[in-house]
Amino acid sequence: MDPLRLAELLGPDASACRRGLTGEVGVALPPFVDHHVHLHLIDDRTLSDGGIAGVLDLGGDPVHLARPPRRAVPRRAYAGAFLTAAGGYPTGRSWAPAGTIREVTDPSSHPGVAGGAATAVDEQASFGASVIKVSLNAEVGAVFDDETLAAVVTAARERGLPVVAHAQGEGMPRRALRAGVDALAHTPFTERLGPRLVASAVAAGQRWISTLDIHRGRVQERANAIANLAAFSAAGGRVLYGTDLGNGDLPVGVNPRELAAMAEAGVSWPAIIASLTDPWPLAPGSGAVATFVPGTPPESPGELAPWLARATVVLTEELVHDND
Ligand SMILES: [Zn+2]
Repeated sequence: MDPLRLAELLGPDASACRRGLTGEVGVALPPFVDHHVHLHLIDDRTLSDGGIAGVLDLGGDPVHLARPPRRAVPRRAYAGAFLTAAGGYPTGRSWAPAGTIREVTDPSSHPGVAGGAATAVDEQASFGASVIKVSLNAEVGAVFDDETLAAVVTAARERGLPVVAHAQGEGMPRRALRAGVDALAHTPFTERLGPRLVASAVAAGQRWISTLDIHRGRVQERANAIANLAAFSAAGGRVLYGTDLGNGDLPVGVNPRELAAMAEAGVSWPAIIASLTDPWPLAPGSGAVATFVPGTPPESPGELAPWLARATVVLTEELVHDND
């Protein structure tokens, strides 16, 4: 395929190539990252076969997550435990055992205070967390008061860790933004956000992790999420591809339904590729691995999602470019 046409379709990082050993023709792209997974709920051994080279775990047991991974790919970043109010979401969920939740009941900035904000952040940091996950789900149980939320965000800032919020229920995305939350774990889906709120989120540099496909079958929530992502993306917001892998029946690998839903929200294909290849919050990779999508990209954008879902992770040195 003509390099200009390829760049138009998939962005500037796409290049035509073939695999050195088999001669199979395809397209090389930077490594794909799923920015919302739960490793304790999936078998991650097949993720790289499914095209995912990096993951961000947004809620798990920090003790388990801190153990050295069995393999180098996918690269992992994680939040450690969910920080939540006493009895708050996801307390009591079968998929969220006790080790995955820390109740923060005191805005204390002092270390070693039981239930203290700084204590909870310190614990995740000590286990190697790259982000702090806070739960703001007003539809189920209690949420933090403003003082406690601010204390968690401040403690995270002091340790150089961005804060990612699960914001669910009316007004929760606004609260998250006011508190200085850096990223939303899900595109807001409870209600349609007004243009001023969306513009503020864009101006603040907030990142939104897509997770549109989890609403499959829930018509209103899906429509809200797609409308909100459309507004955020059109206003220049930073979108990250993420699936909430481990939540329900989702493919272990690139999810073509997630990609198609992002396209339905008007996110351009080059922007979708950028959302897949943004290493945040990991540092950029070493370049040792790349994404390989076999075959020629389809001319019709409607066929790009299933084509991209054929992606696998390969060693960069395996790939031969025409100008090599
Ligand atoms: Zn999740």
